[in-house]
Amino acid sequence: MLAPLETPTLEHLTPHDLVTYFRCPHEMELARGRHARAVGKVPPPVRTPLDVVPLRHSPMFAPPLGHLEVNEGRLDVFDGDRLVYEDEGEDDLPVLFPPERVRLDPRFTNGHANLVDADLGLAGRPDLIIQRAAGGFVPLEYKSTHLFVGYHEAHGRLFDTVQAIAECRLVHHVFGERPPYGIVLYGDASGGGTREGWVQIPYGDAEERWLKVVLDQVRSDPVRAPVPAERNCASCEPNGDGLCRFAAARYEGPHPHLAFLASRRA
Ligand code: SF4
Repeated sequence: MLAPLETPTLEHLTPHDLVTYFRCPHEMELARGRHARAVGKVPPPVRTPLDVVPLRHSPMFAPPLGHLEVNEGRLDVFDGDRLVYEDEGEDDLPVLFPPERVRLDPRFTNGHANLVDADLGLAGRPDLIIQRAAGGFVPLEYKSTHLFVGYHEAHGRLFDTVQAIAECRLVHHVFGERPPYGIVLYGDASGGGTREGWVQIPYGDAEERWLKVVLDQVRSDPVRAPVPAERNCASCEPNGDGLCRFAAARYEGPHPHLAFLASRRA
């Protein structure tokens, strides 16, 4: 008699995992172990073999970049827009709505903080979700430490595009409506708003297809190789803890513990 077929369990991934993999797959491995230890869980085994050959670039396919809308200045919030979700773990989010236009609805998350897409094995928390008066639920990611100035020089901050697309998928799955776009809002704590800006990242069939492909790509990567480069290693928190034997530069970020907390928000 044939044994019943078992559905394989998908490796759990978050938008932040994808961002980290896009920089350095080995960093994703180390960061996940670090996070597990910090919350008292057993860290998953690190896939990267000792004799791995480091790469020059992450193998992740770049996200589609068509039709990004880049805006300087304050985010447009229209009459009739409502705030329907806020990440409770954040204490430095911008106040975009007066109290009477805040309608947080725990039905969408079943009382949990995370938005969960069991079909794709993806879970995470956008900073905010706005219900637009014109229709649609839109996730917003707030980058308090990244100024808008230099956006183009930073090649459109591809990392933020990765995160926005993954969060759009979570909103699509949980709220039952495909968001037309996600928003990344770049803060300006020191510039009095003069250097603020925001980017609208479209979410359509091409972006959803890309996301499914890269989720498969990450899960099927047996190596998760390091990408040692100063641009990566100098801000890599596991490097700050001395966890990486491939590092190409010293860690130059804030104290690793503070950086870890910040990384959960970024
Ligand atoms: S130190 Fe560099 S090579 Fe090592 S995990 Fe971090 S980013 Fe990757």
